Amino acid sequence: MRVGIGYDIHRLEVGRRLVLGGVEIAHSQGLEGHSDADVVLHALMDAMLGAAGLPDIGTHFPPSDDAFRDVSSLVLLERVSRLVEGKGLGLTNADIVVVAERPKIAPHAVAMRERIAEVLHTESSYINIKATTNERVGAEGREEAISAHAVVLLHELS
Ligand code: MG
Repeated sequence: MRVGIGYDIHRLEVGRRLVLGGVEIAHSQGLEGHSDADVVLHALMDAMLGAAGLPDIGTHFPPSDDAFRDVSSLVLLERVSRLVEGKGLGLTNADIVVVAERPKIAPHAVAMRERIAEVLHTESSYINIKATTNERVGAEGREEAISAHAVVLLHELS
């Protein structure tokens, strides 16, 4: 078994789409970033890469590379999945925490779990998404940003 941790935060900005866990959510603001700025998938990918002993997503998909401009993070997740498989490892489970004051994440958690599970060729019961507000303090609490934390367990493929 190999464990990995991932964290990401992106700024909220008017005029951007809000995409979390591969699911577009209707909201007054979206996350600013080079790709679709999906903090949930970015944290998850870094946790998977970390568990596999590989460099982080910034190394694999540099923001300086225009190939990744506005790219769906689901595409990047699929690539990370293949990198992990290439190391002879498979996903056991993932547990993810989303920190957002607004919008409410819970109503979208099932859709996110299913979307992620589909890309990782696993069952949604192995992908958990939890959400919390930041009690109106800090960047997330002031609705300046949304962040995500992920922990992943990988097993050796036989
Ligand atoms: Mg990011």
